[in-house]
Amino acid sequence: MTYRLVGDRYFFPSHGRPTAYIETSRGCPYRCRYCYQSNRKLLWRRASPAWVVRALDHIKNETPDVRHLYFADDNYFYDRDRTITITEEMIRANRDLTYQVQGAALMDLRELSDADLALIARSGCLRMDIGAETGAPEMAKVIGKIVDPGLLLETVGRLSKAGIIPWINFMAGFPGESESDLKHTLDDIESLVRKVPRVMISPVYTFYPYPGTRLFDQSVRHGFKPPATIEEIAGSSWRVPKTPWLSAGKRTFLERLYFYSIFIDGKVPFYSRTFWTRLGHAVMRPLSRLRLRHRFFSLPVEKYLFEAVNGVEY
Ligand code: SF4
Repeated sequence: MTYRLVGDRYFFPSHGRPTAYIETSRGCPYRCRYCYQSNRKLLWRRASPAWVVRALDHIKNETPDVRHLYFADDNYFYDRDRTITITEEMIRANRDLTYQVQGAALMDLRELSDADLALIARSGCLRMDIGAETGAPEMAKVIGKIVDPGLLLETVGRLSKAGIIPWINFMAGFPGESESDLKHTLDDIESLVRKVPRVMISPVYTFYPYPGTRLFDQSVRHGFKPPATIEEIAGSSWRVPKTPWLSAGKRTFLERLYFYSIFIDGKVPFYSRTFWTRLGHAVMRPLSRLRLRHRFFSLPVEKYLFEAVNGVEY
């Protein structure tokens, strides 16, 4: 597209830099059952490295104010050789652009050596987002995710060592998820935060069946009634949805888990760097970690306080 027509004010900041989106590939060879890719026949399609180079030059020439790129690919690293060719060209052209990658699959990162990761970091990569989603082997089967906690910890450590922020996504509240399954997930989160200083964990979101996915059909079999009207869609909470397999107690637990997981690492300053946010984060970080360690989310006075001060429900 002609980026110049969009205008500077539409480039949201990321990592403190005006940011533009770019997509260099589409699709994914994996079939996680909660993902919109799960029922698709199309597999992974890619733009050639030459096309990507032209797109980067285009962004640089059209919008010199853009300093950071958000690679919105579902799965950027699937073809290691393509990744390395693009990476080497980025280093050679030295466009003064940093970037982050939305879709990094653990199985593909396994194919990248430490030298590859160092090269990728040198080309300006600041962050990679990885979907781990659960720490429980049984749940991994339900959601069709290839989960290997050992590999996750090792990969996150390697990324961190290379100077790249590993941003790990987790969810909870899947159909059939037991207390012990959730414990596995929380154990993984705690272990990552404790062992890898640079790691960031997404706030723990609650699963909601996405129409057209394999887990949607399974959820309907578990008694889930999809919203049928605009009013019902508007009334369903994306944060802790009222799916029939969640008891009121578990819903409350997940609501609190979401809130406290915002503060357990260093991600808050990514969203806001005001004095009050930084102060709030400095106070909340040790408290939230303590709560996570003891799985103690009762009497959430900090949550009530934040909601009263900010006028929003977390
Ligand atoms: S690896 Fe990511 S993009 Fe691919 S199917 Fe799983 S969730 Fe979807």
